Amino acid sequence: MKILLVEDEVKIAAFIKKGLEEHDYYVDLAYDGLFGKKLAIGNIYDLIILDIILPNINGIELCKQIRDRDIKTPILMLTALGTPEDKVLGLDSGADDYLVKPFNFNELLARIRALSRRSPNIVINNILKIADLELDPESKIVKRSGNIIKLTVREFHLLELFMNNVGKVLGRNDIAEKVWDINFDTGTNVIDVYVNYLRNKIDKNYPNKLIHTVFGMGYVLKEEENNNNNNADT
Ligand code: CA
Repeated sequence: MKILLVEDEVKIAAFIKKGLEEHDYYVDLAYDGLFGKKLAIGNIYDLIILDIILPNINGIELCKQIRDRDIKTPILMLTALGTPEDKVLGLDSGADDYLVKPFNFNELLARIRALSRRSPNIVINNILKIADLELDPESKIVKRSGNIIKLTVREFHLLELFMNNVGKVLGRNDIAEKVWDINFDTGTNVIDVYVNYLRNKIDKNYPNKLIHTVFGMGYVLKEEENNNNNNADT
């Protein structure tokens, strides 16, 4: 499940992002309303968490602008403003739920679960697909051409990251940040090693290779019409 978090307080943002990632959510972070808007419009999220007092565009305004574009992603407002008037304003702007700071992290998790239940399409249709490869984030089952592929936890998260970013070149730093942690030593070749493990499991026995090396930049998961074997090396 992919979440957009728009929160300008760096410490709080880092705390929420880390906590959510520990619960297997992917989190994109924006520190101001303008960048938050750019991400919200340019990507598909399962949930958007919006702070209200934000630089450039405030959360209420941003929520309205997102809804004006017919984006129906559930929105959770997160704010220090807890008066009934503030809550009404937030909900009237198109938010689905409201959580007042300081909040208990477990309550945030419960609200997120409730919001994703409220959007049945999101939960039922959660299976990620490219070509004949499927990944189910809920059951953790990966299949290629209907065959179940067993992955380690790390390989699963790596593949999930690729499948959430089909066609997008992911640099080693992007991968390190999302699949390992921020203290990851980028001087090692661990990422290349894991990408190879993954290739051996999902690509090796199939003619149509999906993981491609982009020389000097990283890796990309995509379907190519004329697959040539040069792409499959590391
Ligand atoms: Ca704020």
